[in-house]
Amino acid sequence: MSDCLFCKIAAGDIPSSKVYEDDSYVAFNDIAPQAPTHILVIPRRHIAGISDMADDDSALVGGLFSVAKKVCAQKGITDYRLVINNGAGAGQSVFHLHLHILAGREMGWPPG
Ligand code: 5GP
Ligand code: ZN
Repeated sequence: MSDCLFCKIAAGDIPSSKVYEDDSYVAFNDIAPQAPTHILVIPRRHIAGISDMADDDSALVGGLFSVAKKVCAQKGITDYRLVINNGAGAGQSVFHLHLHILAGREMGWPPG
């Protein structure tokens, strides 16, 4: 999508601090980190959110978790929280599907 921030980051049209990329995914540091490690994993293909998944997007969405596992293993991070906000009321502010990786501090529960 031409007006999507994360599509532009995936394409390299907007700079980001990338920590991983392959043909289908990009992972980069969040611009406003909520933990010492705060990385976003996105599919290169635009999907607005979990609510917009087609049934055959399951593998693509599952791959976000595989990338998160890979990135954390590469960084030696064993304890981390993975979050997907779906919908503005749940805290979603960028409507290109992304998985948050949060690590490096104690995580409270329930989340705010
Ligand atoms: P959401 O609130 O949609 O779950 O998460 C969006 C995330 O994207 C937020 O944590 C926010 O800090 C991050 N973000 C917003 N704009 C940018 C940007 O231009 N670059 C990067 N690296 N992260 C961004
Ligand atoms: Zn997009």
